[in-house]
Amino acid sequence: MNSRRKFIKNVAFGTAAAAISPKLIAKSNFKPTGNFKPVVVSTWNHGLPANDVAWKIISGGGKAIDAVEKGIMIPENDPSVTSVGYGGLPDRDGNVTLDACIMDEKGNCGAVAFLQHIKNPISVARKVMDDTPHTMISGKGALDFALSKGFKKENLLTPEAKKRWEQWTKEKNYEPIINIENHDTIGMIALDKNGNLSGACTTSGLAWKMHGRVGDSPIIGAGLFVDNEVGAATATGKGEAVVKIAGTAIIVEMMRMGKSPQEACELAIKRISEKQSDYKDFQVGFLAINKKGEVGAYSIQKGFNYAMHNEDGKNMNDAPHLLQTNVRTY
Ligand code: ASP
Repeated sequence: MNSRRKFIKNVAFGTAAAAISPKLIAKSNFKPTGNFKPVVVSTWNHGLPANDVAWKIISGGGKAIDAVEKGIMIPENDPSVTSVGYGGLPDRDGNVTLDACIMDEKGNCGAVAFLQHIKNPISVARKVMDDTPHTMISGKGALDFALSKGFKKENLLTPEAKKRWEQWTKEKNYEPIINIENHDTIGMIALDKNGNLSGACTTSGLAWKMHGRVGDSPIIGAGLFVDNEVGAATATGKGEAVVKIAGTAIIVEMMRMGKSPQEACELAIKRISEKQSDYKDFQVGFLAINKKGEVGAYSIQKGFNYAMHNEDGKNMNDAPHLLQTNVRTY
């Protein structure tokens, strides 16, 4: 190696070594005890029936990855849930376009973005994870992939959603809007009896979005992140705001550094409020669990809730929030 190349190599190595202190690369503080407290949590009210299915799998000794996939299919299949799967509100051109991702305890992940005509994007995301060397497939490629795997092509725009879209086009003049309402993604994260964490996230995205718009929900590290050494986190609300801070990735990293799930969710919302001056005009909610089965949740606005199921039973919980007075009622 000539001396200049050697010099550059040494400088590069020296800089990297100096920049990363041993403290920062230390392993998580959590020492798995073998005595795990299984838990499943999901965003919003539609998390409750989703959790029922997931908990049945987990309490029977099943795997968290199967629990989150099967659980999340419940709101995807429910036409009365207008923010997920079949029955989701369309984009501003009247197309239902779906985003989803899934991540398991080994750090494997799969996602689909801008997928049309398939009722269960979460299962297509799982196939991306299990059957391809990729982590995300989008648009027509995702549809073709789904059809090749035996998924059925369907019309996902229900008469009710169509009516609401037609009404919107009259009132709103074709402007995509981001507001506090109209976004209720389901994100589900779970810890099973073997102490393994997994998560899944699925959405029809912001109602009346621009055609082709993809939010945070299919993006690993934004809408969902799982690290089996530490914990898992999921997000809901304005996807653009979550993407800008790599929301769930930083929550899991903060837990690795010793923060509780609650502290980590609060710090991530604080980060948004410090970096995005319009934060009072939209909603973001984060939900996190750690390896000990502890749960945290926090949002910008009042109104974010989540469903929880563990060995003590199931319940709905209102998340604490940053703004005490809402700019609008959520
Ligand atoms: N996070 C989703 C998105 O931006 C919206 C939601 O939470 O419903 O697409």
